[in-house]
Amino acid sequence: MKASYFRNNRYIMTMLWRIRKGRVIGEFLYRALTYIYWLFYDILFLKYLVESLERGRSFEEIMTFIAAAMIGFAIPSIVSAWYLHVYKPRTDADIFEAVHTMLFEKATHVELSCYENTQFYNRFTLAMKDCEKRMTQIIENQCIILTSTAASLCALYYMFQIDHFVILFIAGPLIGNFLFGKIINDIKFRMNKECTPYVREMEYVNRTIYLAEYAKEFRMSGIFGVMKKLYENGFWGILRKIKQYQNKTALLAFVRNIFVFVVIFQGVIFYSLYRVMVTHSMSLSGFTVLFSAMNVVAWMVIQASEAVILSYEDSLYIANLREFLEYEPIVDERQTGIMPADCQKTAPDGAVVAFRRVGFTYLGQKAPVLHDINMTVHRNEKIAIVGHNGAGKTTFVKLLMRLYDVSEGELLYCGSNVKELDLPAYRNLFGTAFQDYQVFAMTVAENVLMRTPQNEADYQKVRQCLKQAGVYERVCRLSHGMDTILTKEFAEDGAVLSGGELQKIAVARAFARDYQIAIFDEPSSALDPVAEYELYENILKGCADKTVFFVSHRLSTAALADRIYLFEHGRIAEFGSHAELMQRDGKYADMFRKQAQNYVGGTFDVA
Ligand code: ADP
Repeated sequence: MKASYFRNNRYIMTMLWRIRKGRVIGEFLYRALTYIYWLFYDILFLKYLVESLERGRSFEEIMTFIAAAMIGFAIPSIVSAWYLHVYKPRTDADIFEAVHTMLFEKATHVELSCYENTQFYNRFTLAMKDCEKRMTQIIENQCIILTSTAASLCALYYMFQIDHFVILFIAGPLIGNFLFGKIINDIKFRMNKECTPYVREMEYVNRTIYLAEYAKEFRMSGIFGVMKKLYENGFWGILRKIKQYQNKTALLAFVRNIFVFVVIFQGVIFYSLYRVMVTHSMSLSGFTVLFSAMNVVAWMVIQASEAVILSYEDSLYIANLREFLEYEPIVDERQTGIMPADCQKTAPDGAVVAFRRVGFTYLGQKAPVLHDINMTVHRNEKIAIVGHNGAGKTTFVKLLMRLYDVSEGELLYCGSNVKELDLPAYRNLFGTAFQDYQVFAMTVAENVLMRTPQNEADYQKVRQCLKQAGVYERVCRLSHGMDTILTKEFAEDGAVLSGGELQKIAVARAFARDYQIAIFDEPSSALDPVAEYELYENILKGCADKTVFFVSHRLSTAALADRIYLFEHGRIAEFGSHAELMQRDGKYADMFRKQAQNYVGGTFDVA
């Protein structure tokens, strides 16, 4: 990590330079101007004044010099005020926007499995966190290091002109200052690293407490006590680490201060006083300027070393950001390739989708979740996937959409291996609704179209999709109909719909796409069996000319399909039409009868 300190800072400065050259140049000039001011007033100006008094220059001459200096600095002062209050905030906003866009782009283009990879997810959250503060800090620190080093060298040069040996009193402590700074920084780095698990515990609790999804559980259960304990564990863990290291860092900081301040300040003062008072080899003006220059150099170098220490911290942040931005996705969401054929028209033998001996293992897991899946689905077929929890149904659907790549065997779309197809175009073939659908704090129409409706034709489409999902009448009763904002996140009069109603909106969203294949992965769990049955009847009617996959727990619904696949422990245990499976009298028939007993007298008559 430490070896990459320069590489990391260079990486981010190059990136910032690309985004906003003016901000980098502006910061450099602003810092340079600050140090020039400092050098001028504390050394040159002072030198001129003391010498003027010694040489008996006239009051008018001195006043003219002061007035000229004031005018000389007036213009840069106006420019730096403009820079600080107008240019910097504006360009900082541009930088944040550009960096966030890069992060968002990356986050949406990596494969889904990244979100299930703790390391990757941590990296992502860390990269997003403090992004604004870090970017500004990085530019500032790098410019401070450069300009203050240059300014210190100038001040040292002046001191050297007055006395060649006095430099020795400064050079040693300054090198020591860097060395001590580095040791203190290494210890802090170690401490922060050891604190990370505790910080993550605290952050997890913070996150869950402000997320609306958790609010109900917190109120209705004793989980708050558990979370509080977790938070306290994190808090005390951090405190223990601070205690473990505090004495060491305090001692080092104390030694460093003594070393720097005592040696520089007392050393230079004693030495120059000796020359003024004992050997009479130094003038009073020389002593005054030397004293002031020493002060300037010491503070400038302290600022530079502080900036170096902060840059080490920045470097950790940058390393994380770099790893995130440079991550090479296994499945690049922007992958180009062969455009998928219009399978509805050109599928060989009418086969739209074919799984050939497909197996799948999740990243980091040893045991496969799916084994030897073989399935050929023809044009406009309606396929139900059923099975107990954990049987592999959702994983199957994820493979179908290429959210993951198969680990074994191959998946064909219209005769082509899906790995060779243009991924965005392939994804566009699907209209989907999942059990873990998300509703956005946008209008109903936007939630269905997933963009802002532009004209009446768009609204007509939304209307039709809502009708097909069986929720149009409910939407009409909302305060602004299809333009009602869902959730109360941004709107006081935002609509709060029931779970079942929201699921129907998620189903309407699937219809709004220009899809070839519809996938419904239990977007109906909040509906009662009758409502679910009716929803699927509607869906299947509306999708007569589409290929449909749907996952359902309720076999009464599955019975609507042309073919049913029963998954068990990641394998296809049985398949066939409802009638065929009932006739076989195997596992499916057994499950169906057990479920039917729960609905005696219900509406279903499919057996
Ligand atoms: P189903 O949809 O039939 O309930 P899933 O396909 O969701 O089943 O899960 C099948 C198995 O894969 C389960 O044992 C589950 O724990 C495991 N699984 C699901 N998602 C992941 C994941 N991201 N990483 C590791 N294992 C997973």
